[in-house]
Amino acid sequence: MKIYKISLMVIIMAGILFIGASHPAQNFYKSTVSMIGATNKSSELKDENEKDKNKKESYLICIDPGHQLRGDGNSEPIGPGSPYTKARVSSGTVGISTKKPEYVLNLEASSKLKHILVSKGFKVVMTRENHDVNISNLERAVFANNQKANMVIRIHGDGSDDSSISGASILVPAKSGKFTSGIFDDSKRCADLIKNKMDNKGFEVNGIFERDDLTGFNWSKVPVVLVEMGFMSNYNEDEMMSNPEYQEKMMQCIADGVEEYFKTN
Ligand SMILES: [Zn+2]
Repeated sequence: MKIYKISLMVIIMAGILFIGASHPAQNFYKSTVSMIGATNKSSELKDENEKDKNKKESYLICIDPGHQLRGDGNSEPIGPGSPYTKARVSSGTVGISTKKPEYVLNLEASSKLKHILVSKGFKVVMTRENHDVNISNLERAVFANNQKANMVIRIHGDGSDDSSISGASILVPAKSGKFTSGIFDDSKRCADLIKNKMDNKGFEVNGIFERDDLTGFNWSKVPVVLVEMGFMSNYNEDEMMSNPEYQEKMMQCIADGVEEYFKTN
């Protein structure tokens, strides 16, 4: 019985070798192998994309659209244990041409940023999604801390008495700040990447500025970048910033910068 089995196997194997030597069978074999190869490659690519997406889904971005319908002049400490205080939340500026309040512009742009980041696969939380709220700068920072956000992006519009001044500014917690030195490196690295993306798309960026006087930075335990999109006190920039395509383009730069930050983290 055993010998019978072995000789049957030898015959079958010889048959396979013989068939394998003939061209049609070889071609069939080759095309099958290359098909399997292609399937493997595309499923590998799919796995990579899936991994990338899963990785991003584990990153949480907190977006803070600056200001709110009504400012709140009650004071709060500018940092944990600090004797210095500031208004809980200021009312922000107003567009010189559009007459749009800053809190409206900030939420318009922030909503676009949220959409782009979510489509990239990030988890996103926002400190506010409507105007009629009262959340102080301290509370916004604590919210992001409690959520364990991996990055906070604060969106603002700038204002100046000099209407000729224009350009975006990127603010980060100060390197030597009493409360902020621990979050400087990561915040700065993300700010650099955002600035690069904005420079490459032709936006006027005045620079990256360290601040140790912002309540929203001083209470933050997680990296944070504040983007002043441009001057609402400049006629031209005010008009541009209200253009949905302009907003979309700038928010894309911020989202691309954030994405690169986590890719290279
Ligand atoms: Zn502002």
